[in-house]
Amino acid sequence: MAQFGTLNFGSLDASSQKKELDLNNPQEHHRLVIVGSGPAGYTAGIYAGRANLNPVLYTGLEMGGQLTTTTEVENYPGYPDGVQGPVMMEDFKRQAEKFGTDVRFGEVTRVDFGRRPFILVIDEEKVISADAVIIATGASAKYLGLENEQRLRGAGVSACATCDGFFYKDKVVAVVGGGDTACEEALYLAGLAKKVYMLVRKPYMRASKIMQKRVLDHPKIEVLFEHETVDVLGENKVEGIRVVHRRGKPDEKVYDIQIDGFFLAIGHKPNSDVFKPWIETDEVGFIKTECKSTRTNIEGVFAAGDVQDPIYRQAVTAAASGAMAAKDAERYLQELEEKEREQAQAKEEGN
Ligand SMILES: Cc1cc2nc3c(=O)[nH]c(=O)nc-3n(C[C@H](O)[C@H](O)[C@H](O)COP(=O)(O)OP(=O)(O)OC[C@H]3O[C@@H](n4cnc5c(N)ncnc54)[C@H](O)[C@@H]3O)c2cc1C
Repeated sequence: MAQFGTLNFGSLDASSQKKELDLNNPQEHHRLVIVGSGPAGYTAGIYAGRANLNPVLYTGLEMGGQLTTTTEVENYPGYPDGVQGPVMMEDFKRQAEKFGTDVRFGEVTRVDFGRRPFILVIDEEKVISADAVIIATGASAKYLGLENEQRLRGAGVSACATCDGFFYKDKVVAVVGGGDTACEEALYLAGLAKKVYMLVRKPYMRASKIMQKRVLDHPKIEVLFEHETVDVLGENKVEGIRVVHRRGKPDEKVYDIQIDGFFLAIGHKPNSDVFKPWIETDEVGFIKTECKSTRTNIEGVFAAGDVQDPIYRQAVTAAASGAMAAKDAERYLQELEEKEREQAQAKEEGN
């Protein structure tokens, strides 16, 4: 195993508070470490396990990923009667374990991808090394941070129209946001709901002109400019929202709107901080992958699922890219082994 010199964990602001660990002597070495236990991570585990790569998977704090925070999933193929999110993720886990994935509870708190093998620190307790790494740490939707919004998550508050829109057929919903994603969500919901309010904080939208036009021209969508949501109303489910129109202006007005569903479309935060500065991301933090692959800018490090997907963010697309990442990692490890064999042979011949 390679020896490590001074490790650069410079970008990690909390590093000064971090425990002294002997990073030069990893306690374990693995061919492949998968980080994350959502659909992407577990699917990577299924494929890598079946390819005999003996993967180790660290679950992170949210074992099973985002779907453990929802109830019914109706759009994942293979479950014609729908399935509860946590049940589905338990199925994923069992399938990954069946093929030899070593699923461990733990969070990757630091990495060094500047050396080979790569170094990963688990829970600031344990140092391990790996020949290849799959990052499948997901992304978290941004919420407004209102108390009742959090209380009613899954009971009318959602950050995914594609996932939950179906439950609002012929109902009244509101979408918060003024970008292209918010327009897309509003248009998607308008295909199902009776009426869609789109709440835009500014007097204008950030979205592209074409998206704005589609939204503004849609008979079922009413865009409310200069509107801020200050409360979500309802005991056990969303029944309305309280909004402020033209906050701070002389004609400021506070009023309630009756709705059945409240959809956030104000962006996502990818869980990629821990992998910086090694891994290239876009300005939001989504990991950049090479076209039609899961390869990142570091050879041997792959990214799958929502952490590298600013567009689709669905369980089925995350799972698909998990499969791709395992296949990419398998090919990389094969090439690495070939290279190592050739080097050993050349060394032997030189002696
Ligand atoms: C409420 C809700 C309902 C949804 N409903 C649907 C639906 O009906 N259908 C659908 O297709 N999609 C749905 N989605 C979207 C779907 O959940 C995501 O697209 C999918 O889970 C993304 O999978 P992923 O594997 O990329 O990441 P995630 O599911 O986000 O999993 C990320 C994993 O990474 C782990 N992790 C993060 N940081 C670290 C770290 N430093 N070290 C170790 N592990 C780490 C986390 O613990 C977690 O296990 C829904 C999302 C939400 C929030």
